[in-house]
Amino acid sequence: MSETRKVHRLSRREFGAIMAAGAASGTALQALGAQQNAQPTPQQRPAPGSFRRPLVPDAPPFEGTLEFTRKDVAHKAEPSPMTHVRLLPNSVYYAAQEWNRGYMARLDGDRLLYTFRANAGLPVGSAKPLGGWEQPENGQRSSELRGHFPGHFLSASALLYAATGDKDARSKGDYMVAEMAKCQEKLGGKYLSAFPTTWWDRLDKGERVWAPFYTIHKIMAGMFDMYRLAGNKQALQVLDGMAAWADEWTAPKTEEHMQQILTIEFGGIAETLYSLSAATNNDRWARVGDRFQKKSFINPLASRRDELRGLHANTHIPQAIAAARRYEISGDMRFHDVADYFFYEVTTARSYVTGGTSNAEAWLAPPRRLAAELKASVNTAECCCAYNMLKLTRHLYGWHPDPEYFDYYERSLLNHRIGTIRPNVGTTQYYLSLTPGVWKTFSTEDQTFWCCTGSGIEEYSKLNDSIYWRDREGLYVNLFIASEVDWPERGFKLRQETTYPESQNTAITVIEARPGALPMRLRVPGWLQTAPTVKINGKVLDASAAPGTYLTLNRAWKAGDRVEMELPMHLQMEAMPDDPQTQAFLYGPLVLAGDLGGNGLTEAHIVGPNLRVGAPNTEQNGSPLGPTNATPPAPEVEIPTFRAAGADPSSWIKPADKPQAFRTTGQKQDVTLVPLNSLFDRRYAVYWHVE
Ligand SMILES: [Zn+2]
Repeated sequence: MSETRKVHRLSRREFGAIMAAGAASGTALQALGAQQNAQPTPQQRPAPGSFRRPLVPDAPPFEGTLEFTRKDVAHKAEPSPMTHVRLLPNSVYYAAQEWNRGYMARLDGDRLLYTFRANAGLPVGSAKPLGGWEQPENGQRSSELRGHFPGHFLSASALLYAATGDKDARSKGDYMVAEMAKCQEKLGGKYLSAFPTTWWDRLDKGERVWAPFYTIHKIMAGMFDMYRLAGNKQALQVLDGMAAWADEWTAPKTEEHMQQILTIEFGGIAETLYSLSAATNNDRWARVGDRFQKKSFINPLASRRDELRGLHANTHIPQAIAAARRYEISGDMRFHDVADYFFYEVTTARSYVTGGTSNAEAWLAPPRRLAAELKASVNTAECCCAYNMLKLTRHLYGWHPDPEYFDYYERSLLNHRIGTIRPNVGTTQYYLSLTPGVWKTFSTEDQTFWCCTGSGIEEYSKLNDSIYWRDREGLYVNLFIASEVDWPERGFKLRQETTYPESQNTAITVIEARPGALPMRLRVPGWLQTAPTVKINGKVLDASAAPGTYLTLNRAWKAGDRVEMELPMHLQMEAMPDDPQTQAFLYGPLVLAGDLGGNGLTEAHIVGPNLRVGAPNTEQNGSPLGPTNATPPAPEVEIPTFRAAGADPSSWIKPADKPQAFRTTGQKQDVTLVPLNSLFDRRYAVYWHVE
């Protein structure tokens, strides 16, 4: 084999052709079919915190109608409330938060309300409608997903208020809730949406319609978040009405008919209904939530069978979250197992090196066939999937606070979330493609509104969440992010200062402490090679802890106490489970990308397309994806292959002239590698063919 394979010479037209083959016709899925039964052995490391009961063979765990009985499960750990954690400036996280905040501030509330008012027959004033997936009826172009983004916007406004205290964000959220309440009133007091009720008749009859329950869920979740995080009681009333409408729509339907309806993307509506049920102590909403349990999805998972192949990823991850929520309010272990096994399988058998999962929005290959899956289309790793997998991780960690959950969390957060928001602009990506030779593409200001634009504004509004957790005894420091946390009930406050992952250490200063011991557990990342050096008040501790565990510092803290932890990074290689020669490289937790240059890339290549460039400019139902693709194709690019000089990547990948930059040595075509999350407006490769 020659050193330079002429594969993946990607032009924009080929992107489209691959996409058409992958998602539109299912050819990519069929092409992978031959490998269905040849599964490599699972990776050695078990999933964190897994708690598995013996299975009852051959009995479907879920049969017939579900019975709900409220019984809350006590969590072992809970995150410090977002209102008690603040990001400090000068970090990649703070920057992402501020870019997103800027984008959200630029979006006008009346524009976000346009389709809701139009649907209710209320005046839209002088507001200009939004485009893309929010496009109202307008000749040929309209989107059946309209209303989803304003729902996300409510959630993001509430999160941003909780994360930063931003009163403008809350005011805009409050305004939208009040105006949407008027739309709901005009529509009869229960139903609230930006599209007509006739679409529900189509859903009922099995006729084509995009994903009405998906959209309704975003609005319901937005209302719940405005209530939960921004104290808006009107939002709870609106949500109550919407839940009543959902009850009335679903109640007369047989179990069989509902299961048929659930074949159309409906996402996490059950999760919101369960949360509403718990928050209002009203079991009625949980029983409505139970109608949204898709048996063909949860039965195999509760039996620990991976039947995910062919499923749409981002409608099923929220269903796993709904299962987690169902377990938390009922103690029904079957739902625990659904969420637990799903997490295990997706993170160990179906996730790329970035922590991202999915291809062409689905799982196309059998488990642990990631090299095959990678080739199925360029549309790898949808951003919504990363957002929702992090959400699921938080539930599971609360049940079993195992630090390995945060190895996954950090991997995904650093590589798939930081780095998919456009610097300074705040627009976001749809897919973080891992096909060699691609570049990052971003949504437009107001003509796109992909699903991932919606989950994106939520993600970057809540980057202070989950850095710190706590239990009855003490505090967990799970992420190395410059921030302050206050625990007023325990009179404990600390500041974490670090520029990690730019720096390879973190320093924690106690600002306030009451007399008495309080254990502080520092997460020792699994990617470290050895137990890290830790200092307290300048003195090296005798004790440390192995990678992948917690270092517990149990002492009576005093204001001014300072803990420093070294986090020395090293190069490591990660191969595909089904192809040891397809390899990616990491530096500590950072996935490295080879810089293949920006030759020929223009703003039109970068802003607007969702990687399906060249494909017809339509989604399922003729809704617009954004700007038309009249842009000339980007030039073809050759992807180098490598010959490794040794098993340790540092034997042939050497530090380059900038921090965190590396360069291959001794190759026919040497390449500079930098963290994927820092690379913009350039072609890149993450996976390489290495001999
Ligand atoms: Zn998405």
